[in-house]
Amino acid sequence: MSVECIFCNIKNKQIPSDILFEDDYCFVINDINPVAPVHLLVVPNNHFTYLDNLTDDFAPVIFKMFEAAKNMAFSKGVSESGYRLVINQKSDAGQEIPHLHLHLTAGTKLKSLG
Ligand code: AMP
Ligand code: ZN
Repeated sequence: MSVECIFCNIKNKQIPSDILFEDDYCFVINDINPVAPVHLLVVPNNHFTYLDNLTDDFAPVIFKMFEAAKNMAFSKGVSESGYRLVINQKSDAGQEIPHLHLHLTAGTKLKSLG
């Protein structure tokens, strides 16, 4: 845990946030500055900075993050219309918070990445 980290502080309730889902691996919140009608963040419970540091030990957490994203897409009613999952890494991607997270955006036609 990093006391400087916004997501760690949301997890330990030092920063208020509506936690939509949590289990032993990850939690889900609404992005404070949404770029789409649905914009969720799926965040591992334990502080984890960059995918540079990925090891086999982290496999269950990665699986659980994608499972949470899939389940949230169902509960938000966008699993049929579609959604996008994004992970920003470091400055060229515009990463603001160095604690791994999945963005789930949906609810409108998302601009093509290609
Ligand atoms: P990234 O740029 O990939 O690091 O994404 C960080 C995201 O966290 C941004 O989309 C922010 O809008 C969002 N964010 C920052 N502070 C909060 C907060 N307190 N609660 C929810 N989302 C936040
Ligand atoms: Zn953190």
